[in-house]
Amino acid sequence: IPEVLGVEQKYKLVFLGEQSVGKTSIITKFMYDSFDTAYQATVGIDFLSKTMYLTDKTVRLQLWDTAGQERFRSLIPAYIRDSSVAVIVYDVTNQESFHQTTKWISDVRTERGDAVIVFLVGNKVDLSDLRQVSSEQGEEKARELNVAFIETSAKVGLNIKLLFKRITEILVIHE
Ligand code: GDP
Ligand code: MG
Repeated sequence: IPEVLGVEQKYKLVFLGEQSVGKTSIITKFMYDSFDTAYQATVGIDFLSKTMYLTDKTVRLQLWDTAGQERFRSLIPAYIRDSSVAVIVYDVTNQESFHQTTKWISDVRTERGDAVIVFLVGNKVDLSDLRQVSSEQGEEKARELNVAFIETSAKVGLNIKLLFKRITEILVIHE
């Protein structure tokens, strides 16, 4: 009955990270199974909803996209305030975007403490010739900062569904 009435549990997921690491592409691939090679700067903040059907449960994910630009940094605390999950994305071909994830994770922890599940995501693994950040480096940082970790390619669809499946499973366990 609760599902019919549309009162299934809702969770807010926020996507953070530097500009052009693939935040919008990961969301778009998951929502529409499509990939756009043209860069489109995210304007402001908005969200998309996706219902996840588990064996004994239905949950609704609200995916909040944002821009990584410094000018939006001041909006971040308000943006992450009532989030359940923070997905911190970097580009494995861009060392600086990896370096910056420490700051993003610390911003999230400052605002939300342990109330939020943090996922570190190394995207663009299809560009293997251009890789600057190894899987081991990603794993090591995730271990140090006590966050979950996965590598993805929004372009070829690698681990995109798995990312959201893992997030949903952790959310349900934490309930
Ligand atoms: P955002 O600023 O973090 O939202 O980044 P976008 O999703 O707009 O992606 C920035 C650029 O990287 C675009 O040109 C995308 O097509 C490209 N891109 C995103 N994900 C991938 C990926 O997994 N592989 C490759 N090769 N390019 C990607
Ligand atoms: Mg974007």
